[in-house]
Amino acid sequence: MTAPRPADVFPPADCRDCARCCFADSALHVQVFEVDIDRMGPRARSFVDKSGAYGFMRFEEGHCVALGCDAEMGLFGCTIYEERPDVCRSLERGTSGCRYEHGAKAGRPDVMLARLRGGAS
Ligand code: SF4
Ligand code: SF4
Repeated sequence: MTAPRPADVFPPADCRDCARCCFADSALHVQVFEVDIDRMGPRARSFVDKSGAYGFMRFEEGHCVALGCDAEMGLFGCTIYEERPDVCRSLERGTSGCRYEHGAKAGRPDVMLARLRGGAS
């Protein structure tokens, strides 16, 4: 029997194996408030879309633009971790919200990994 992959166990021991909550189809997934903008440095602020009445983290190719990935290691990470928005801080591993993200978005990080590795998605 094949052992389950770390990301498939709930809750994963390490969010770097998972990253599913950083994926979304909607551009309205991570709202950014003034307190977040104030915390962010210039580079992080460039990841925010404030073209409408509210601010949101920009999403491209199905994931937040601040999401980084070490394709060789197969690990993910927030590139603005210390300055990440409060919405991201509030989602703790193992909570009901995490469980929803983990179940609803299984496989999405693998699509990103495959793209970065130059394989089929
Ligand atoms: S908070 Fe939950 S869904 Fe998000 S990366 Fe961690 S384990 Fe995955
Ligand atoms: S800001 Fe960081 S933690 Fe929040 S969705 Fe984007 S990559 Fe994930």
